[in-house]
Amino acid sequence: MSEHASVEREREKLLKELSQVQDELNSLRESMQTEVDIEVDEGDSEVFEREKNAALIAVMEIRLQDIQNALRSIEKGNYGICTRCNKPIEPGRLEVKPDATLCLNCQQEIERLSRRGRPTRQIQW
Ligand SMILES: [Zn+2]
Repeated sequence: MSEHASVEREREKLLKELSQVQDELNSLRESMQTEVDIEVDEGDSEVFEREKNAALIAVMEIRLQDIQNALRSIEKGNYGICTRCNKPIEPGRLEVKPDATLCLNCQQEIERLSRRGRPTRQIQW
């Protein structure tokens, strides 16, 4: 069935992305390990570089988890199903973000809720 073929294509895309992210993580971690000899003069920039790498590693690890989650849901046969409302995720959205686990509605809802702490309007009397 064509539906199955497209999931297979997504799986290949995810596996490719997975190995890219893993490569990147490996080289980032390597650079973290080799930079232990810090020259006093370079201390600040080295520290900055390490902090930047640490932040990148954190981002990559989340990305890796998302990809692995998507691959797992392909194996379980519920790939492309929103984990929040159990409705199918828009195909166009999956095309852009193959590791999406939420439909557009739920994604927007969550983003809206996470912004709610900030006041949108202040009355100045
Ligand atoms: Zn949803």
